[in-house]
Amino acid sequence: MTTTLECEVTREQADQMTQSPITPALIRSEITDDQICVVTFDRPDSAANIFDRGALEQLHQQLDSIAADSRVRGIIFASGKKSIFITGADLHSISKCDDPRELEALIHLGQTVFDRIAGLRVPTIAAIHGACVGGGYELCLACNYRIATFDKATKIGLPETQLGILPAWGGSTRLPRLIGLPKALDVILGGKTLAPKQALKLGMVDELVHREYLLDYARSVLLKSNTKLMRRKVPLMVRLSNTRIAARLISKKVQPQLHKKTRGHYPALPKALEVVTEGITRSFPGSLELERRAIVELAQSSTARNLVRVFFLQERAKKLTVGVDTGKTPVRHVAVIGAGVMGAGIAQWSAAREIQVLLRDVNPEQVGKGMSSIAKLLQEGVKRRVFTPVEARAAMDRVVPMAADVPLRKVDIIIEAAVEKMDLKKQIFRRLDELAGLKTILATNTSALSVSELAAATLRPERVVGIHFFNPVHRMQLVEVVVGKQTSPEVVSRAVRFVQQLGKLPVVVNDSPGFLVNRILMPYLIEAGHLFENGASVENIDESMLEFGMPMGPLRLIDEVGVDVSNHVAETISAHFSPRLRTPSVLGSMLNDGLLGRKSSRGYYLHDKKSRGTDVNPHVDKYQKGTSAAALSRDELRSRMVFLMINEAARCLEEGVVSEPADVDFGMIMGTGFAPFRGGPLRFADEVGIPQIAEEMYKLAHKGEAQFAPCRLLELMAARQEKFYAATRI
Ligand code: NAD
Repeated sequence: MTTTLECEVTREQADQMTQSPITPALIRSEITDDQICVVTFDRPDSAANIFDRGALEQLHQQLDSIAADSRVRGIIFASGKKSIFITGADLHSISKCDDPRELEALIHLGQTVFDRIAGLRVPTIAAIHGACVGGGYELCLACNYRIATFDKATKIGLPETQLGILPAWGGSTRLPRLIGLPKALDVILGGKTLAPKQALKLGMVDELVHREYLLDYARSVLLKSNTKLMRRKVPLMVRLSNTRIAARLISKKVQPQLHKKTRGHYPALPKALEVVTEGITRSFPGSLELERRAIVELAQSSTARNLVRVFFLQERAKKLTVGVDTGKTPVRHVAVIGAGVMGAGIAQWSAAREIQVLLRDVNPEQVGKGMSSIAKLLQEGVKRRVFTPVEARAAMDRVVPMAADVPLRKVDIIIEAAVEKMDLKKQIFRRLDELAGLKTILATNTSALSVSELAAATLRPERVVGIHFFNPVHRMQLVEVVVGKQTSPEVVSRAVRFVQQLGKLPVVVNDSPGFLVNRILMPYLIEAGHLFENGASVENIDESMLEFGMPMGPLRLIDEVGVDVSNHVAETISAHFSPRLRTPSVLGSMLNDGLLGRKSSRGYYLHDKKSRGTDVNPHVDKYQKGTSAAALSRDELRSRMVFLMINEAARCLEEGVVSEPADVDFGMIMGTGFAPFRGGPLRFADEVGIPQIAEEMYKLAHKGEAQFAPCRLLELMAARQEKFYAATRI
């Protein structure tokens, strides 16, 4: 606990600290003929409602007036927005808060206002339609009853731990008292946001209704049940699960599980566990105090700052506009050339977003395979309740299989996803030149081939762009929009909009071998290969990066991507950056022996059912050629691999592949899972210190490992003691 938290902030102090100059009306209250007060959140000029100081203060004032009005028989809290109830606290006010006392005052204010709702003399109902998360749901928890709509837009949850903090406006205190400790922990520690039916099943909401009836139904409940709502009994199961002994047992069981999962990298999780299990044994105010102390402590950590920053970067990508404004006309027709892994994935994702898709491959058999993959992906979506069976059927109907050339004049975007061979792709693009309409965008999903070279094979290079999806398409949110030498600004702008229309997150990058993500990832994977060849064990290499916070080790990643694909991309990129990058021969040797990773059940690991992908392949040792890396510690292995990512990331800035450090970090976190709590390779470099990193790299380079020589930008920054991010705050 930090000592700053020892000082208690009074309501008055909280009020003083949180006075905001002029806040427009964010909330309106109306009293119906039957004396029900409807409090509607409706932030002007915004699609969302959020809780910042102004909103909390206004709510406080409204509650004062409502409480003083003796006519009011009940209160409904609702939203005036189309698809959002309240999305929670204004994260800027948390992340920019340098003074812990100021943050505690804000948290105190929220707790006070929500307590006020819980203590009203009349019953209260939250009428939830749209996203109701974080502070939005904490308001609902303070109400006596919660009714939500069945609508797809309605999502309910407490995602705070995913941002490195915890629910602290009463959520960590009220949720376990409502649904019991085990279920509440599942939601809070998982940072879960749930669909309405799941929320109902857990008891987070009491009823579901159709959107059209939401307010009328809430009114009728208030009129019928009135004070009964305020005297609801806590179910026996909840009481039994919330005893001191149960709390202790649960805490003891969950603690090691959390540590195993996070390796200690996400302090919000053990802290939330502590607050929830300890809080249940305390008085209500005692539990709220625990929440306050915990959030102030967590919000100061670099973990929370980095995670909140990732959230802001995602929001930025959703709203990104580049170059010329091309209006908002959505893409309606797409053609996908190549029905393999990527082509089928892109076709499925587009069709599920109401786009007509023409799927082309070389023969009916290949197209058929693609169609089966699409059907499988849609069925899986139905199982996971992402789509209804009717929606899946409709998506399937939008895909037209095609094994011959057809005119593509009416198609908005053609995405080429054929095999990774420049000559073949050039042939395809020349043919597309003949078939496509003049306004059609010609996009390639190539992983590493030059978009500019491909564009030059057509008569309209200005309409050629890279739209690089990651594998698997339905899971990976990031898409690189690759700008070739001649790509027109209008085409870039349309490509970005298309990616956003698909619900994916674009990052715009200039054409460069491997673009942004593969370019930075490859030196890391290549180094992992060299370390292995020189005697480091598979376990040590992968464990060292898991300890750093990567979602999987580099050698396991190669197995998952495929040794063949990895080798191909490594060779393409190495060819450009030789001699500093050299594809390790182990990849070629494994390829020759048919060890392709998961797809052949054998790679660095064994992937058959018996081994469950956890066992290192005992035969890979034969590809080791030296011993120079055998004695390196995990720290040393990790430093080498991370240094190379930082160096390449700096080169991407130096060469203008992207213009901002934030693009690099965002791309690496979203495209490779680079430990999000570290904020990306460049943020991490800032945190360690560029002079220290450069010094370590010089030492390695002087020992003969030339790949470690820092690039010019790192050299300069080290000499000037600079950071990539001028300000250390978000
Ligand atoms: P794949 O081998 O699974 O599929 C390629 C498909 O293209 C095959 O069905 C093949 O029959 C078809 N094809 C070949 N020549 C064709 C032609 N002339 N016209 C139409 N179709 C033709 O390959 P993939 O993994 O889906 O990769 C496709 C592209 O996407 C490649 O450029 C690859 O670099 C890129 N990519 C792959 C991944 C990945 O992880 N697999 C990730 C991102 C990008």
